Amino acid sequence: MLKFKNEIPFVEDTSLHDIIRVCETPFYIYSQNMIKQKVEMTKKVLGENIFFSVKSNSNQAILKLMNSLNIGADVVSIGELKRCLHAGFPSNKIIFEGVGKSKDDLIYAMQQNIRLINTESIEEIKLLQKLASEKNKMIDIGVRLNPNIDGGTISKISTGKKTDKFGIEMNEIENIANLVSDFSNLNLISISCHIGSQISNIDAYKNTFKEMKKATDIFLSLGINIKHIDLGGGFHVQYKDNDPKFKIEDVKKELDACFNSSSPYEISFEPGRYLIAEAGILVTSIITTKQNGGINYLIVDAGMNTLIRPAMYNAHHDIITTKKKIDSSVTYTVAGPICESSDIFAKNILLSKQTIGDILIIKNTGAYGKVMSSTYNTRALPTEVLVNKENFAIIYAPDEIEKNIEKDIVPSWL
Ligand code: PLP
Repeated sequence: MLKFKNEIPFVEDTSLHDIIRVCETPFYIYSQNMIKQKVEMTKKVLGENIFFSVKSNSNQAILKLMNSLNIGADVVSIGELKRCLHAGFPSNKIIFEGVGKSKDDLIYAMQQNIRLINTESIEEIKLLQKLASEKNKMIDIGVRLNPNIDGGTISKISTGKKTDKFGIEMNEIENIANLVSDFSNLNLISISCHIGSQISNIDAYKNTFKEMKKATDIFLSLGINIKHIDLGGGFHVQYKDNDPKFKIEDVKKELDACFNSSSPYEISFEPGRYLIAEAGILVTSIITTKQNGGINYLIVDAGMNTLIRPAMYNAHHDIITTKKKIDSSVTYTVAGPICESSDIFAKNILLSKQTIGDILIIKNTGAYGKVMSSTYNTRALPTEVLVNKENFAIIYAPDEIEKNIEKDIVPSWL
């Protein structure tokens, strides 16, 4: 998303230098128009029923933008639900799921009259009936099924195998149907699934769709009026050149092969990463350089507290320099300042010769970046900036670290 004009780095029509002048590194930048284009393209291929997975990026400005693009929201906590309501999403465009919802979570969600609460266990369905009955409410629910499909992604982001903690096993369908038939406050109208993230294997989608179609038919045959099938998110983003190629059109082909367009139910998806990952970059500056054991280290001011994906998932993010001319290239390892050996962003990458104060760009960090950041090592959270053509705005300004310290409470005996 960074383009060079006369060797000056730009995001849309905004010079990176202008942003650096007012923002301290490390900070994230998002391109509003890239997000817009991706959402529009996705809607064009898969239809209007897209629910943005808020866990991937929950900044109020991003949510406001998503709402203005007429998509819904998929949330996995009450905090995310509150964020969406605050950003102006109509409650009937919010779906709430999550493997562990507390009683208070369910009561709050019920009171907001959101579109659906997707349940993930038999016990949760029973609890929801009890709560709905106590509040004298009739609520629409969905069940998240576990289709027992291996999406071929890394185990830390796999969610669709039967040994994963998510969803309800397919062999429970009859039990669920019997249970909800006796429950007068629940209206089971939807089934959903999500088999994981970074899924590029089209067969995984095909098999998931087949399982979900089978499940729908069984529910319908048992007298449950399924009106909505939510097929999850997980669309693959190409983080590096030799990553598998993924085309959303191939997903659509499998969808059409499985579901008849005249089916009596609507179909939706809940992508996160696919809509926003490539529209974000992390800007960091080099604090120091050093050589250890023959390795040329660039120590930057972003760390695993700013972007945890490389340390947590071994995720790859391309790193580029903003320096104009590539004179001589050097092999570098780019590491953060955190006191952890896993605080490494990239090993053995070729960059033009770097010096202290130079700026590096960590690419494709719009999803699961800032939302997963922390104050580990008592460091500030990163700033976030949104660019819209030649305008930019700070959309998250972190607290001073002193504020963070003040949150600790020292008991009177100390
Ligand atoms: N839906 C659910 C239930 C999820 O847990 C996730 C993320 O893992 C998503 C949607 C979005 O996944 P992705 O960002 O890979 O599209």
